[in-house]
Amino acid sequence: PRQIKRICVIGAGYVGGPTAAVLALYNPDVRIEVLDRDQRRIDRWQSGHLPIHEPGLNNIVRATRDASRRTGQDEAQDAEDVRRQPNLFFTTNSQESISNADMILLAVNTPTKMDGVGAGRATNMRALDGSVNDVALYAKPGTILVEKSTVPCGTAQRIRKTLDSLRPGEEFEILSNPEFLAEGTAVKNLMNPDRVIIGSADTPSGHLAAAALASLYAAWIPTSQIVTINAWSSELCKLVANAMLAQRITSINSVSAICEATGANVDEVAKSIGLDKRIGPQFLKAGLGFGGSCFRKDIASLTYLAESLGLDEVAEYWDQVNTYNELQRKRFARKVVKRYDGDLSGKKLAILGFAFKKDTGDARESPAADVIKTLYDEQPAEIAIFDPYCNEEDILREIQPFMSADNSMIKIYADPYQACSGANAILVVNENDQFKVTAPRRSGSVSGQITPLEKSFEEGSISSVSDTEMLSPVSPPVSQTKPEKDYLAGFDIALVTSPPCLEDCPDCK
Ligand code: NAD
Repeated sequence: PRQIKRICVIGAGYVGGPTAAVLALYNPDVRIEVLDRDQRRIDRWQSGHLPIHEPGLNNIVRATRDASRRTGQDEAQDAEDVRRQPNLFFTTNSQESISNADMILLAVNTPTKMDGVGAGRATNMRALDGSVNDVALYAKPGTILVEKSTVPCGTAQRIRKTLDSLRPGEEFEILSNPEFLAEGTAVKNLMNPDRVIIGSADTPSGHLAAAALASLYAAWIPTSQIVTINAWSSELCKLVANAMLAQRITSINSVSAICEATGANVDEVAKSIGLDKRIGPQFLKAGLGFGGSCFRKDIASLTYLAESLGLDEVAEYWDQVNTYNELQRKRFARKVVKRYDGDLSGKKLAILGFAFKKDTGDARESPAADVIKTLYDEQPAEIAIFDPYCNEEDILREIQPFMSADNSMIKIYADPYQACSGANAILVVNENDQFKVTAPRRSGSVSGQITPLEKSFEEGSISSVSDTEMLSPVSPPVSQTKPEKDYLAGFDIALVTSPPCLEDCPDCK
């Protein structure tokens, strides 16, 4: 295959940034430039404060982006750092970056179209088309284009048409290489993926292009895990993977509604069915439903595809996954309202966690926003939000659409204790480790029992200090060891089912 010396990644977002960093780490002889039109984002990638929070990302960016950085603490590492030349760069100069690239990865956003034909379901291709136009303007002939963004089935053909009309007679191979990383574990997923899928045209030059991309991944991924298929299958498999993951969450969430109405415990049901090897234990945690920028839109895209093909029943089937997901969020918020007999006036509600899941600052399509909307409509005295990783700006972007001009009711705190101070209820909305409640010390119990919301409501077993209650859509994770910083420690609001230990026994030390 052709040797790739320079890569341009268009889109310095949650996918483009980490993907480029890991590719750069394992391919020290390849120069990787990440291009974005958002100057602010590029500035942050070049700074000490990256624009996205991902565990492990800082170190990789530092090792690949910065000149040798001897710490004097680890000789072997220092020697390695000195040998290594920076090979990861961030830029807004599209002409220079695109024209020098042997390969271009398109990692721009592909959100759901909000207006016009297919609104709410079809994919908005504006950013992708924009980046393809830039490629057509500047790329040298023979540059390999790679779809990293999640795109509708048939996009490779669409790109080919654009290039054929703007650069007639010139050869460009278009590959599909969907990204399966999950936010919060992006680095781990990129370093140790279950598989890498590369879709290409079924032609000799298509296969050669696929081999060129595969050789970059082969720098750290066993070739048996690099799967080459046709471009259509590759584009579709990303939508299907996300739709099936989301469907599992929706399935267990629908079961949680049954559990709440009966005496069953959804965690016990999930554990029991997960032991069946055909089902497996992953993605069976009931909660507020899925959020984030991908699952909903990818199911919408799959639905739209099915509809466009005249497969209405297929479309309806997948559409239901999104419909139920929204309902799950409302169910939780309505329970909170019901808990206060439909009257939240004078109440302060603290929301712990705003990002759509743990270990990320990504607030896009966060379930927290939907919960807050329902609560906001009830006009409580205050909704206090704390998230360890979200920017205030990103939180406001999500909640502003339903806020009235007077937004003094919603406050965003940088300190969790202040957010919770004087709160009537604390709603744990994502599962960041900081929010883990350490089991209260008591004898005879190995791991503390924390009562899930539904049980607390039914059995009235909330134990509270003053008027404070902790509400969680499902039982918060129970840890046996004290987390680094136990944000809830000061509140003594864990929902306990057995009495605290009064003796100074070894178990409780
Ligand atoms: P993002 O919004 O974080 O980043 C996209 C970036 O592209 C933005 O910084 C934007 O300014 C830039 N951009 C848009 N048009 C551009 C242009 N013409 N030229 C230069 N820059 C341009 O998006 P993301 O979350 O990284 O997602 C990117 C794609 O990857 C989407 O298709 C998404 O579905 C897919 N994906 C996302 C995830 C995830 O967890 N976020 C996982 C797998 C796949």
